[in-house]
Amino acid sequence: MSYYPASIQNLIKHISRLPGIGEKTAERLALHILRGSRREAEQLANSILNIKDRVKLCNRCFALSDSDTCGLCSDPARDPLLLCVVEQPADMVAVERSGAFRGMYHILSGALSPMNGIGPEDIRIRELIARVEKDRVKEVVLATGTNVEGEATASYIAQILEKYHIQVTRIASGVPMGGDLKYVDQVTLKRALETRHAL
Ligand SMILES: [Zn+2]
Repeated sequence: MSYYPASIQNLIKHISRLPGIGEKTAERLALHILRGSRREAEQLANSILNIKDRVKLCNRCFALSDSDTCGLCSDPARDPLLLCVVEQPADMVAVERSGAFRGMYHILSGALSPMNGIGPEDIRIRELIARVEKDRVKEVVLATGTNVEGEATASYIAQILEKYHIQVTRIASGVPMGGDLKYVDQVTLKRALETRHAL
């Protein structure tokens, strides 16, 4: 890349710092931007600055939002008595894409991980309890990950919520659609058998 002028080298350097982008791809993207119109380059630069200036966390569910309260929390069509607990904003997006959930969300911003020094005070469990108390939630769906941390987080929250006498459910995890049983790992298959249902 040293054959390019300093300005192009600089852009290649910054693009290649993005996750999953190697120097070859960064070079291709930089040259693509150079060939495009000034307007397109401005839109790209502005949209990057815009997310840094505008995006904050929703004051209710802690999702990424351009306003104090996110669109989902402000939507009167959503069921406020049904609360889905996820680890990260991207998990919420995944559940939304499934189209199978019409309630509200609570984003923990992490999962319990004693090995990495992440305890209950480090994720938004206190805020979750406050919501359960204040919003008179009827059901909490624990949709944290199905790895060790996600499972530990789900059982910790389930234990805390016991005294509120609300329904606490855990997402079922199992064999992926179109999956071949012999390629499914043991933990997943065990879980799929445990959460089997009648046909
Ligand atoms: Zn929200």
